Amino acid sequence: MMTKVHNNSQNTKYNYDDSCSPDLSLRNPLLSNQDRGVSSFFLDTLANDWNKGGKLSSSDTLVKLKARAKAKYLTNKYIYRLIDLHSPLEKQYWNTYFCNHVLVQEGKKIYGHYCSNRWCFECNRIRTAKLINGYKPAVESFKDPFYMVLTIKNVPCTVKDLQSKVKEMNKEFRKIIDLIRKRDGLYIEAIRTIEVTYNKRTNELHPHFNIVVNFNSVAEMIRDEWLKHFTKEQVDIKGQFIHKADKGTLKELFKYVCKIDDKTPAFALDIIYQAMRGIKLTAPNGVRKVSEEIEDLVCTEIKELDPAERTWWWNSEKRDWETKNCWPDLEGIRLCKLIEKLIKNKSP
Ligand SMILES: [Zn+2]
Repeated sequence: MMTKVHNNSQNTKYNYDDSCSPDLSLRNPLLSNQDRGVSSFFLDTLANDWNKGGKLSSSDTLVKLKARAKAKYLTNKYIYRLIDLHSPLEKQYWNTYFCNHVLVQEGKKIYGHYCSNRWCFECNRIRTAKLINGYKPAVESFKDPFYMVLTIKNVPCTVKDLQSKVKEMNKEFRKIIDLIRKRDGLYIEAIRTIEVTYNKRTNELHPHFNIVVNFNSVAEMIRDEWLKHFTKEQVDIKGQFIHKADKGTLKELFKYVCKIDDKTPAFALDIIYQAMRGIKLTAPNGVRKVSEEIEDLVCTEIKELDPAERTWWWNSEKRDWETKNCWPDLEGIRLCKLIEKLIKNKSP
């Protein structure tokens, strides 16, 4: 069952109430005052990517729940580095901190809230899966798919430099596609994504396109025109790659806009995220577009759960969601542990 009432994470207020109020709507920090009383319809569910008709098998439930807990743990571990920069994206970084921070159980259904940000491991898992599944039929219909990488030389690590360069790359690519279509009469099908990496040694950024096209000849024409559309100071033939698409192509294509890892300094990540604001990460040509937005109001039932009204709070130490107890000495119930136990008890 899917009910969409409110889909604006930017407006969400986080009034963290740590008390033991029995009223779920009052305890839920994801609800603004205006939202209170409308209950969980303002929340999305724990299981956006679990949507197999709303129900999952026992093993699927546990695997997905544990994967989500891991993604939540990794996101919160690194997001402080971005929050501490106090950049124009600080509010959105805090939204990511609270991504699925609290889960609300109503009956057998569990609801959570997704931040939808590009730098969130939890949301990116869903986004990547959605894009791969969405574009897979198109790529499978390509007669002879080829994967290519188009690069330009590195740019200074500033928001302004990166933003203008990415805009220029998009503009030139569109011109090239139009030219080949008109001049050579070729039917081009392509899906391109933009990726930006940071070079620590030179303190520069490296924006590049990952593209899958319907024919090798098309890939070669695009590459040749790419080299003509920029000066020798801007592009180098050695930086361009073409090879036959394989099983890993779609995964490669929809990698994140930049690699989220400990090696990339927070300031560089922040510059990339600021520069890429409002710029689409994926762009199809001759292929039906798949939205990058992730669905944030999906209702999934966990059939193993005993029906109850509970709030589950993220506990980073235990890497699990936990019910809070009014008595500080008493431990709460842990969600992953509980599901594990319920599945075990049920199995013959
Ligand atoms: Zn998120």
